[in-house]
Amino acid sequence: MNILVTGGSRGIGRAAALLGGARGWSVGVNYVRDATAAAQTVEEVRNAGGRSMKLKYDTTREDDVKDMFGAHESYFGTLSGVVINAGITAESMPLAEFTSERLKRVLDTNILGTYLCAREASRRLQKSDKHNRSIVFVSSVASKLGSPNEYVDYAGSKGAIDSLTIGLSKELGPKGIRVNCVRPGIIRTDIHEHSGDPDRADRLGNMSPLGRPGEASEVGEAIVWLLSPQASYVTGGLLDVAGGR
Ligand code: NDP
Repeated sequence: MNILVTGGSRGIGRAAALLGGARGWSVGVNYVRDATAAAQTVEEVRNAGGRSMKLKYDTTREDDVKDMFGAHESYFGTLSGVVINAGITAESMPLAEFTSERLKRVLDTNILGTYLCAREASRRLQKSDKHNRSIVFVSSVASKLGSPNEYVDYAGSKGAIDSLTIGLSKELGPKGIRVNCVRPGIIRTDIHEHSGDPDRADRLGNMSPLGRPGEASEVGEAIVWLLSPQASYVTGGLLDVAGGR
């Protein structure tokens, strides 16, 4: 398969990229700031047996998104799968204290960026001659829990992704393209550093029914399964990978 992973350089995106590499897939690794992490992930995907390239593009910018998909296609050829994963949080606080700058940053990355990538993916995948074509979004169980006093902006942005998954799966199903999302719970990645609480991942993860935070690879496994032909009759799915949270 030939896939593109937004935010593929670190955390959950990186895990999906590595697992794709281990299956011999071609994997475009998108990032925006940390070129060292992206280069390392590309190297690891290659070592795992896949082909890989890094793609420095900002998913919140329309021209960047178009250029990113174009660069990926020029290098690897026709696309078969897209993981729309790039997302951010901000410091934990009640909505009344949010600055407009914070709101714009979170909603632009998590909603606008996701929609821009989904639009480009849907255009490209409709032209693709590949047998197994699909999109996997990375949402969050925050969409149903709401994250009060922490990140209601983040939770709402993930609700938008759930809804987009449902709508787009119905638009693209008749064209043979599957659309699903995974909804991680508390997963041990760098994203929790933005909360201002260094113990957040362990504290909340330990309160889940499985009694621990998840690992990025546990979400990556769900993502590569949804992309694979083994999930050929799965579309419109919202798959929680959250330890029961
Ligand atoms: P990380 O902070 O570890 O990684 C985020 C990735 O997104 C990095 O590769 C980063 O690149 C990239 N990125 C951020 N903004 C942009 C942008 N504008 N354009 C391109 N790339 C961008 O996060 P996680 O792996 O934890 O999170 C991945 C997804 O999983 C997110 O959507 C998040 O909401 C979701 N999720 C995570 C959970 C968790 O507990 N970890 C729980 C539920 C959902 P760079 O390093 O260059 O900035």
